[in-house]
Amino acid sequence: MGIGGEYVCEKCGYKSEQILMGPGFLSAPRHPMIGARIMNGEYGEKAKKILEENPDSEFSFYMVIYQCRCGNITSEDVVRIRSRGKKIDEGVPWTFGGPKMDVYERGKILYRPVVKCKECGKRMREIRNPPMEMPCPKCGGTMGFNHDLFWD
Ligand SMILES: [Zn+2]
Ligand SMILES: [Zn+2]
Repeated sequence: MGIGGEYVCEKCGYKSEQILMGPGFLSAPRHPMIGARIMNGEYGEKAKKILEENPDSEFSFYMVIYQCRCGNITSEDVVRIRSRGKKIDEGVPWTFGGPKMDVYERGKILYRPVVKCKECGKRMREIRNPPMEMPCPKCGGTMGFNHDLFWD
C-alpha cells in the first residue's frame, strides 16, 4: 500500500500536483498485469521491445517521485526491466497469503524511463527517499507533505 497527497507551502500556499509514493500491490516482481500493460505499449515502444526480446527478464512497477532543478515535483508510475540474475530463493510469498514467487538476484538494468519536466522540459531527477519536507519552488519557504489518501 502506498500513500498519496501534496506538498503544500506553509508560507505562500503553493501546492504541488498530487504525489503518490510507496509500493502498491502491482509492484510485485513480474506482475502479470504489468507484463500485459508493457506488451500493450502503455509504457512505450522501447519497454515493449525489450520485454519481447528478453521474455525472462524481471520487470517491476514503481511509483517514483521526480524533482526538477526548476523546483517542479511530480510522481510517475514507471516500469523498470532488468535481466535476471541467479535464483536466490524459491516460493516466497510477496504479500501475506499472496502468490509465491521465486526470487532472483538483480541483473543489469535493461530499461528505465526518462522523465522530463512538464514545466521546463529538462530531465528530472529521481528522489529515492521522499522527504516529508521540501523547499517551495515559488518562494523558497518550506513545504510539508499533506498526506490525504492511500492507494494500492
Ligand atoms: Zn511557497
Ligand atoms: Zn523543470
